[in-house]
Amino acid sequence: MIEKLLIANRGEIAVRIHRAAHKLGIKTVQVYSSVDADLLAIEYADEAIELESPAAAKSYLDIDAIICAAEKTNADAIHPGYGFLAENADFADAVEQAGKTFVGPKGYTIRTMGNKVSARNTARQAGIPAVPGSNGLIECVSAAKDMAIEIGFPVMIKASAGGGGRGIRVIEEVSQFNQLASQAATEAEAVFGIGDIYLEKLIERARHIEVQVLGDGNHFVHCFDRECSLQRRRQKIWEEAPSIALTDSKRSQICKSAVALARQVEYSGAGTVEFLYDDDSGKFYFIEMNTRIQVEHPVTEYILGIDLVAEMISIAAGEPLALSQSDLAINGHSIEVRINAEDPANDFMPFPGTVEQLCIPDGPGVRVDHMLYPGYAISPFYDSLLGKVIVWANDRENALIRLKKAISELRIDGLATTIPLFSALVDDADVRSGSYHTGWLEQWLQTNASNLSPAIGGATV
Ligand code: ADP
Ligand code: ADP
Ligand code: MG
Repeated sequence: MIEKLLIANRGEIAVRIHRAAHKLGIKTVQVYSSVDADLLAIEYADEAIELESPAAAKSYLDIDAIICAAEKTNADAIHPGYGFLAENADFADAVEQAGKTFVGPKGYTIRTMGNKVSARNTARQAGIPAVPGSNGLIECVSAAKDMAIEIGFPVMIKASAGGGGRGIRVIEEVSQFNQLASQAATEAEAVFGIGDIYLEKLIERARHIEVQVLGDGNHFVHCFDRECSLQRRRQKIWEEAPSIALTDSKRSQICKSAVALARQVEYSGAGTVEFLYDDDSGKFYFIEMNTRIQVEHPVTEYILGIDLVAEMISIAAGEPLALSQSDLAINGHSIEVRINAEDPANDFMPFPGTVEQLCIPDGPGVRVDHMLYPGYAISPFYDSLLGKVIVWANDRENALIRLKKAISELRIDGLATTIPLFSALVDDADVRSGSYHTGWLEQWLQTNASNLSPAIGGATV
């Protein structure tokens, strides 16, 4: 039983978690940093408690401060959302040691799957193909260079602690090896505090296809696939469910692999197994597992009619997973686009500011998960994600029609946002036909970014 849940996050995901908790009859506590007293999530919470500092390291990333807030408010469980402490195994352990419930997998599972090198090894043990590459960390650059020559260039150097597309370098030829490997290690050290790197073959023109899984430690199901190939700087910006690239038999193969991996680590909670998929050969390769709720979870919720956040809370409360595989069937098609306070016409420069007028789209098959209200000032301290527009329809073509309409209705005056990017993408022939891969958007931006209107909503439209 969970009676009171503390939400150790902010933004749209905090709002989303309050909704799920309240649906289950659970009271909620919202933590907030000293610059976040006007968070929308505080409005939705039963209680709110301030963490001292605006800096993430001393607020949403401060394990002791969050556990202390849970103790003060008598919360018996903590949901970490995504980002921040969501994949921090020490945090999961500290929550349990404080006698509270962590809404997510056990610390040792996060430790095994959060380190990408150990996750690759675990996947191989479960019989799942991983991208060809180093078996372990790169300890010696000259040995790694020899391995790269053997695998064949181009290769990719990646941070073992990586996330959000950081600490990654593509190496086209052997002469760049030393310099780019050292850049990747330096970035990894700066961003994650761990400079460990490993090597993978670069899978070119691949699609990013991932499988949502749920498990209670004994019983595991997959919730089918999402395709997230439209990426900028290796960060997803547009996600769909299901992928249009998979045949039924390929879908069944990839989803079964994800379940095998969940079973291998006796997974408990909601997780996502990420793959690269090569259309031409039909091969798929494991890249990583995210042991948390993901930004793009709503597209899965739409096609399956389930509530993933409520499922993860129930599992954490000790209830057996109520869903069985035969309960889950794909219905229709869903697309999500991420709305960030960034100016796509100016190299996606973050654009903090105050929301003036706000129009949120609505209607059948339209869902907007967001953190906005008129007068809300976007803080420069945190990620620029404002929310997501998610649509559903009986098929992809109709989902695109709904998406186009929803984007045209969305108005966030006072800020530059990524809305103009999606207005252009929704009409693009390759996007409409689904002919893209993970490098497609970067190429598209090279020719089209300067044509995107530098729309500061309201000021120039
Ligand atoms: P993160 O933890 O930052 O999400 P991932 O390992 O999931 O890192 O990779 C992020 C993205 O980088 C992938 O979605 C894909 O577009 C690209 N990528 C990762 N590994 C490879 C690879 N071996 N070959 C080609 N692209 C890759
Ligand atoms: P996913 O694997 O779920 O698609 P990403 O790897 O794209 O997630 O990373 C999630 C994104 O959300 C990143 O840009 C990260 O910096 C950002 N982020 C993390 N926590 C928050 C938060 N509380 N509010 C808004 N954005 C966040
Ligand atoms: Mg990833």
